[in-house]
Amino acid sequence: SEMATMMDVPVTKIISACMSLGMMVTMNQRLDAETLSIVADEFGYEVEFVTADLEESIDQRVDAPEDLEPRAPIVTVMGHVDHGKTSLLDYIRKENVIAGESGGITQHIGAYGVELDGGQKIAFLDTPGHEAFTAMRARGAQVTDLAIIVVAADDDIMPQTKEAISHAQAAGVPIVFAINKIDKQGANPEKIKEGLAQMNLLVEDWGGKIQSHDISAKTGEGVKELLEKVLLEAELLELTANPNRQAYGTVVEAFLGKGRGYVSTVLVQGGTLRVGDYLLAGQNSGKVKAMQDERGNSVKEAGPSTPVSVLGLDGAPQAGDKFSVFEDEREAKAIATKRTQLQREQSVRTQRHITLDEIGRRIALGDFKELNIILKGDVDGSVEALTDSFQKLSTEEVQVNIIHKAVGPITESDVLLASASDAIIIGFNVRPMGNARQIADKEEIDIRTYSIIYDAINDVKDAMEGMLSPEM
Ligand code: GDP
Repeated sequence: SEMATMMDVPVTKIISACMSLGMMVTMNQRLDAETLSIVADEFGYEVEFVTADLEESIDQRVDAPEDLEPRAPIVTVMGHVDHGKTSLLDYIRKENVIAGESGGITQHIGAYGVELDGGQKIAFLDTPGHEAFTAMRARGAQVTDLAIIVVAADDDIMPQTKEAISHAQAAGVPIVFAINKIDKQGANPEKIKEGLAQMNLLVEDWGGKIQSHDISAKTGEGVKELLEKVLLEAELLELTANPNRQAYGTVVEAFLGKGRGYVSTVLVQGGTLRVGDYLLAGQNSGKVKAMQDERGNSVKEAGPSTPVSVLGLDGAPQAGDKFSVFEDEREAKAIATKRTQLQREQSVRTQRHITLDEIGRRIALGDFKELNIILKGDVDGSVEALTDSFQKLSTEEVQVNIIHKAVGPITESDVLLASASDAIIIGFNVRPMGNARQIADKEEIDIRTYSIIYDAINDVKDAMEGMLSPEM
C-alpha cells in the first residue's frame, strides 16, 4: 500500500501485478527489493534504494593502479576447539616485539600487528574461530586475506576443523595449515596430513600446493617458519592498497570504555586514518579524538592493514560494520542518522537470502547462476549419497555447489555460513540445534529437513525447474 501511494495507483493494481509474478500478497506485506523494482517498472517507475546509494557514495572511489602499494596480509586463525588457536595467537603476540619496542602487546583490542625479522608485517584478527570470521562475512565484511587452520597433531581432523576449512573455502580465502602440539608425546603430524589428503587437501609434503607447517604453540617451535609460509602465500595474492586517500576499512570490535567514551577497534583496509578525521562507521559517526595501537601507544595515523583503537565515535558500531572517512562531519552524521532510520525498514523489506521457493523465479529472471547448499545428515553414507545426487542436478544455467557437508545437527555456524554465502541448508534426519532455528528465522535462511532421500532430491530438482509448490 505504501508503494501504491508513492506511485499514485490503486493498491489493487499492485496486488494484481504481484499475482502476475506468481506472488500472492496482501496490502500490508513488505516486498523484497527485486519485486519492488519489477512492479515499479510495470507502472513506469524506477526504484531508487537510498541505502544502496549511500554505500555507493562510499565504496566507489576506485584507486588508480599507480596509486596502489603493497600492504600486509590480514590473517585469521581457525580450527577445532582446544587445538591451540589462542595459544598460537598468544605466542605470536608475545614473541614478535617490534624492534626497539620495550614491551610486548599489552592490550586486547581485537586485532594486532606483528613485524617479522625481515621487516615484513602481518595483521592478525584476535578473535579466533570460523564463527567470528563468518559472522563478519555475513555482515558483508571480507577482511581476512588468509586463514591459518590449526590442527592438533595428537588428535584428528575434527568436525570444527572441517567446518573451518569449508568456511575459508566458501570465502575464497587461502589456507595455511598449522599442525600443532608437535612437542607432545604421541603427536603424529603425518596422520593429520594423510587425513587432509583424504579430503583432497594435499599439503606440500604430500606433493600438493597447500602450505603447512608443524609447530608447537607452546614451545614456539616452527612458528617463525609458519609465519614465513603465511607471507609466501600472501605474496601470491599481491595485496595492495592506496595509502594516500581517505581511510576506509572494517570495525573489528567496539565497546563503551570506562571514562573514555566509545572505543572502537578498526582495521584500516585502504587509505590512512588520522586523528581529527571525521568517521562514519555503521550507524555511528564522530571525529577521531585519539588513536592507540595494540601496545597502548598513541598513534597519529594508521595506514592499510593496520589495526587501531579509536576514540570519538558517538556509539559502538558492530563488528563487521564498514567505516570510512568523510570531508564533512555533517555529511557523516547525516548518513549515520539515515542508516539508523532505514535499518529496521530495510531488514524487513529486502529478502536477502535465497529460499528454495525463490529459486525458480530467480532462474526465470536469469540472474541466478549458483545454488549453494549446506548439507547436514545423520550418517556419512546419506550425506555422500545426497552430495552426489545434488551435484548431478547442476545444469548449464545453474551450478549446484555443496559448500559444506558434515554429519551432525544444523548449528548456528551453519546458519552463519549460509547467510554469508547465500546458501540454503538441507538436513537429512537431523534438525536445527540450539539457537540455529531462531537465527535462521532472523537471517531469513531457508532450512529444509528431510527423512527420505528421494524427497530431498526432488524438492531441489523441482525448485530448479521452477516447479516447487510453495511450502505452507
Ligand atoms: P583453542 O581452543 O584452539 O584456542 O586452544 P587453546 O589455545 O586454548 O589450547 C588448548 C589447550 O592446549 C591448552 O591447555 C593449551 O595450553 C594446550 N596447547 C596449545 N598448544 C599446545 C602445544 O603446542 N603443545 C602443548 N603441549 N599444548 C598445547
